[in-house]
Amino acid sequence: MSRSIIPDLAAYEVWFVTGSQNLYGEETLRQVAEQSQAISDALQASTGIPVTVTWKPVLKDSDSIRRLALDANAADNVVGVIAWMHTFSPAKMWITGLDLLRKPLLHLHTQANVALPWSDIDMDFMNLNQAAHGDREFGYIQTRLGVVRKTVVGHVSDPAVTAKIGTWTRAAAGWSATHDLKLARFGDNMRFVAVTEGDKTEAELQFGVQVNTWGVNELVEAVDASSEADVDALVAEYEGLYTVVPELRRGGDRHESLRDGARIELGLRSFLEAGGFSAFTTSFEDLGGLRQLPGLAVQRLMADGYGFGAEGDWKTAVLVRAAKVMGSGLPGGASLMEDYTYDMQPGRELILGAHMLEVCPSLTTSKPTLEIHALGIGDRGDPVRLVFDTDAGPAVVVALSDMRDRFRLVANVVEVVPLPHPLPKLPVARAVWKPEPDFATSAAAWLTAGAAHHTVMSTAVGLEVFEDFAEMSRNELVVIDRHTNLRDFARELRWNQAYYRLARGL
Ligand code: MN
Repeated sequence: MSRSIIPDLAAYEVWFVTGSQNLYGEETLRQVAEQSQAISDALQASTGIPVTVTWKPVLKDSDSIRRLALDANAADNVVGVIAWMHTFSPAKMWITGLDLLRKPLLHLHTQANVALPWSDIDMDFMNLNQAAHGDREFGYIQTRLGVVRKTVVGHVSDPAVTAKIGTWTRAAAGWSATHDLKLARFGDNMRFVAVTEGDKTEAELQFGVQVNTWGVNELVEAVDASSEADVDALVAEYEGLYTVVPELRRGGDRHESLRDGARIELGLRSFLEAGGFSAFTTSFEDLGGLRQLPGLAVQRLMADGYGFGAEGDWKTAVLVRAAKVMGSGLPGGASLMEDYTYDMQPGRELILGAHMLEVCPSLTTSKPTLEIHALGIGDRGDPVRLVFDTDAGPAVVVALSDMRDRFRLVANVVEVVPLPHPLPKLPVARAVWKPEPDFATSAAAWLTAGAAHHTVMSTAVGLEVFEDFAEMSRNELVVIDRHTNLRDFARELRWNQAYYRLARGL
């Protein structure tokens, strides 16, 4: 039975709007409508675009543009607007509408035809196909107003163009998800830790997320309320899905620990469902009456699409939830990850990432084993957990830091590699990766940027989705990838320091 809270992105809509003006007369405007509808249909038909693309009647004056913006703002399932100026749409008509629009905007600079019909071009053709200058007028007013948008150039028959649009729609879905996100913290941050702290009030403005704390014993009440029949059913589900070690199976010595793990899952899930929460944090320093640190339960809830951060790290929980939504329908997954330890052999360095327990099994296509081992941290019974290796392949790790006057996202493009050696004594889920551009540059850049040790690792979506997400949420993102060199990177951080203060206004 699927309990996934990852939305089907087809339920989200982006509106395709075309600008023109009344000056052109009926015949030209009829063709504008027809051709813009064809472009919109092509986007809707594209397999690279996961959301529903809805064509809107051509906009020809300030009042209709203003109305369109207000309607887009008011429609919950509309996550963005794509705009194209097939003809010339005098841009003063767009000022009020663009100023009012609160949904992400993509400016598609395209035209109806691919090749020019050189021998047939007459003034009627020139009159109709004017995006080359119509979109320049639109670009001017967007820049003048400081409108944040993604600009995509090219014909919609080009898969590279629809891929860029598709990526932006995923980011827009993520933006929508964080604006719809209620996050429950069970207990506070790990004592004395700096980077997991942050301004929760500012986060509600920047990302839309509501971050609030509940006493862990409210969760304990929900855990204690789970019925034995539900525990039986869940344990049977575990035995069907995972390779359960004999001591945890029915009849095994430590089966009761697995039942405790199942109770924690049932309690957590019912608490989150009852409150409408899509993300949560736990704290090993504040476990109240829980009989073990939640491991298996957290892993399974993440796999169902919940955002999660350990040690009270709500900022990473926001990123995990956003990544879950942005990667909907794609192979791969997203998880809390932590840089743990290195293989530091010169020229072949690797990062071993893991957590105490809580890495999401969406990162593997293999069958995890369900095990129990001692854990000094948490001061409770031995926790049950899923153990697996993350699938090899491209990935991105992203961290979110509070830099006092703003949030900073830092992303590193990485390659998850097959385990170079078995890890028979390491009883947690893990990933081993090679960071771009190389280990020393990546780590030095990461440290220079003040990026966190907790990240979201996504193997479903890549860097560009996070770039679009940062842009539409108006947050700083610095990227560590194959183009990164430390001198330029440090300069970028200094320039950003000034830019993001000035960009916020007085
Ligand atoms: Mn941690």
